[in-house]
Amino acid sequence: MLGPVILAASRSDRMRRLVSAAPMTKPVVDRFIPGETVDQVIPIVTDLTDKGLEVTLDVVGEDITTREQAAAARDAYLRLIEHLEPLDLGTRAEMSVKLSMFGQSLEGGHELALENVRPVVEAAAAIGTTVTLDAEDHTTLDSMFAIHEELRKDFPQTGCVIQAYLFRTEEDARRLAANGSRVRIVKGAYKEPASVAHQDKGEIDKAYVRILRTLMDGTGYPMIGSHDPRLISVSQELARRAGRKLDEYEFQMLYGIRSDEHLRLAAEGHRMRVYTAYGTDWYGYFMRRLAEKPANLLFFVRSMITK
Ligand code: FAD
Repeated sequence: MLGPVILAASRSDRMRRLVSAAPMTKPVVDRFIPGETVDQVIPIVTDLTDKGLEVTLDVVGEDITTREQAAAARDAYLRLIEHLEPLDLGTRAEMSVKLSMFGQSLEGGHELALENVRPVVEAAAAIGTTVTLDAEDHTTLDSMFAIHEELRKDFPQTGCVIQAYLFRTEEDARRLAANGSRVRIVKGAYKEPASVAHQDKGEIDKAYVRILRTLMDGTGYPMIGSHDPRLISVSQELARRAGRKLDEYEFQMLYGIRSDEHLRLAAEGHRMRVYTAYGTDWYGYFMRRLAEKPANLLFFVRSMITK
């Protein structure tokens, strides 16, 4: 019951101000968002990759309102790429971007987001790595998939994300599995209406397995974005049945969630990528993490009361 309430709060400016200003928010936020600046996140990248993990980096931010903010988002990613270059990690450190942060919801937003994201994809390719386009709410997805297709003409390794809770996703998965795309499959983190998305957890899990089978049987590169132990073992079985080797798919989990499992899968020889978000505009990202596991909210509230 709590999840949808928290997701609704994630869109509220009043809640944003309240939560961001609360003195005890910061330590709880740090669990999921381990830095505010590129200088703070680079040592984390080094630490994770030294442990045999891979990373995808997200400069947090979304729902921007001006073209200047969209340009600033582009520049933040370009700065990140400059800092990654000397580490020479190749695809072991890639980037995840939200097109809303690149201006997608502004007037002329589709073109603006493409214009802003292209230099990031180019700069990533120049240091031997890639970018994945995150999936946001369902109203943004036609534009995201069109931008993905456009970018793939020059940068075929550009990835995208699909969400198992959406009815449309089985068809999107068939298209992406047939054209050789890198695709991250996740359950879905936004508040979506029953007209477009499964609401029942069991139905979402069943859809996830069907979609994953399509991706595993296709010609692309599946990226399994989940912490769900059952889905992880199902993924291993589907990969085996599809005859995929360990480097022909990967697991992805979020920084701060089931960290022991990151190491366990990597030790088994799997590619394990940790989605690591950093930056100051963390509210939306943080609230989605609270919504996924209400126990996080209790921990958050308790830490505010006891300090
Ligand atoms: P769940 O059933 O939610 O969780 C399984 C178990 O994992 C839980 O029992 C718990 O032990 C643990 N767990 C899960 N979430 C948390 C949490 N927040 N805090 C503590 N423990 C937790 N969603 C999008 O809509 N678009 C995206 O682009 C996107 N990118 C993602 C990238 C990655 C790498 C990952 C892992 C997730 C991404 N998500 C994205 C979020 C995703 O949609 C889910 O909301 C999230 O992964 C929780 O689903 P789950 O598969 O882990 O399963």
